[in-house]
Amino acid sequence: MEQQTSARGGETTPQHEVIIIGAGVGGIYQLYRLVQLGIDVTVLEGAAGLGGTWYHNRYPGCRFDSESYTYGYSFSKELLEEWHWKERFSGQPENLRYLNYVVEKFDLRKYMQFNCLVTSAKFDEAGTFWRLRLVDGREMTCRFLLTAIGLLSAPTPPRLKGMETFEGPSFHTYYWPQEPVDLAGKKVAVIGTGATGVQVIGALADMVGDLTVFQRRPNWCAPLNNGPISDAEMADIRSRYGEIFDKCARSPGGFEHEPDRRGFYEVSREERLALWDRLYGEPGFGIWLSNFREIFVDEKANAEFSEYIADRIRKRVHDPVVAEKLIPKDHGFGIQRVPMETRYYEAYNKPNVHLVDIAEAPIECITRTGIRTTEREYDFDIIVYATGFDAITGGYDRIDIEGVGGQKLRDKWQDGPITYLGMQISGFPNMVTIAGPQSGSASTNYPRGIEVGVEWVTRLLEYVWKHGYTRMEATREAEERWTDHVAQMYSTMLMRKAKGWFTGYNSNVEGHEHGRIRYFVYNGGSPKFRATITDVADHGYTGIVFDEPVVPNDEALSSVQRAHQRVS
Ligand code: NAP
Repeated sequence: MEQQTSARGGETTPQHEVIIIGAGVGGIYQLYRLVQLGIDVTVLEGAAGLGGTWYHNRYPGCRFDSESYTYGYSFSKELLEEWHWKERFSGQPENLRYLNYVVEKFDLRKYMQFNCLVTSAKFDEAGTFWRLRLVDGREMTCRFLLTAIGLLSAPTPPRLKGMETFEGPSFHTYYWPQEPVDLAGKKVAVIGTGATGVQVIGALADMVGDLTVFQRRPNWCAPLNNGPISDAEMADIRSRYGEIFDKCARSPGGFEHEPDRRGFYEVSREERLALWDRLYGEPGFGIWLSNFREIFVDEKANAEFSEYIADRIRKRVHDPVVAEKLIPKDHGFGIQRVPMETRYYEAYNKPNVHLVDIAEAPIECITRTGIRTTEREYDFDIIVYATGFDAITGGYDRIDIEGVGGQKLRDKWQDGPITYLGMQISGFPNMVTIAGPQSGSASTNYPRGIEVGVEWVTRLLEYVWKHGYTRMEATREAEERWTDHVAQMYSTMLMRKAKGWFTGYNSNVEGHEHGRIRYFVYNGGSPKFRATITDVADHGYTGIVFDEPVVPNDEALSSVQRAHQRVS
């Protein structure tokens, strides 16, 4: 498409008013909102299909840890009426079907372009627009650039010698092949025991001939307690959707699970045990999020609860030596993201499942036929790397993003993200990070947080268009204040010491190894985040500066809409 002459005063305008990068949960909803407004928008997606996380992660066992009916979009009553979630924690194939269903239902596919990996984005100061370069060399321009690139979209395989020499199939879980993998009777290795590893190990144990897990550090895991959702249960859920979403909106994490408001030390040990016994048997994150709040901030409370979970592990794993290896000793329960498991611990009771402690005997290299540790050599047919992601900022670092005066975002964020409300960055005008680093949307039940973020962004853009502005940018002071505020919230939390992605740890990325905390997520909870950003909007977007309007207020939004009608 040629660049268009604008209805706003005749200057040359970019090809699109808005480009959204990413056709995952966030990109789809942002697109829906802008299409509703009649704005010229296109989505660029690097993959061959939509769905983001749910397009890529196809490994066995991949499923929601959020209750399915709290994960779906809430914006359409009709959609809520039509969709039947089949399981309380739905699996990847169904989740991808759901997102495709949404896109077809609202006729959004025509605004999406696939296999369009964006490699660079540069702000053109003179023209006040963004110039994007795609992997195939094409260039595209837009007035406003919205990144919906996800939190966990930059997978990081380990940095091990000899990986390229292995002769069998080997892949990171994010790149699990789309075509069926022949697993029957195969000798399979899994490296990594985070939320992904725990899901894939639980599933593979029943599917392969022999499974060897290479564990460097165990995680505290808890049972998912998944189950089917019958027609009658789904009818009941449908009748309560309003109530369910209200509850999610009130809770810090955007889940139905709300913290126990009683003080840990105000109740007896027996009462604590009664709560924990109940939560351990219930579905989902309750064991983490409906627990006493002291678990997150008080070493002693955390240690007592961690010991309770350790005993659960000892009861479930028959071999006491293996059980002890599966119990974390370097951190307490819940200060890293808790993997939810399905028969994970029971997998280690099977004769075909083996645990190798690579803290004791580290991996030396990958060989032609398998894995060599300092102790011995193992042969495998398949190697699976469940080694995680360059979380939160990794997706941004992989695009060469250049703002005002040639400043690179990856340089600005070298020591950690600096943002305003997790959605704007000083020096990078007209760019909005949907569910970006340091936003409240990034630390909650994802779609609940996404909807809050997208509503805010849509309102902001409407404000911009109504006023005829063409440029907006967060001030340096505003982003410094926000980043300090986000950092401050870590100070009371045990999580600040964790070797997990919430604090920016990744052993496979130079500079992201443990030891230097990066303040990635807003820990104030969903209600407080929503109240804060709403207040900013209600006060005319404090902390964001806009340029002078180019057309009178009352004509401005409709002129953008008319321009769209002419180009489409
Ligand atoms: P992760 O939590 O970062 O875990 C990576 C694992 O790989 C860790 O056990 C790590 O050990 C190990 N590892 C990394 N590099 C290694 C190396 N070079 N050698 C040996 N071991 C290595 O990553 P993840 O499991 O992919 O999970 C990331 C996030 O994705 C989760 O926290 C969650 O938010 C999301 N997720 C969500 C769902 C869901 O909602 N259902 C499911 C899966 C994942 P160390 O700890 O020693 O570094």
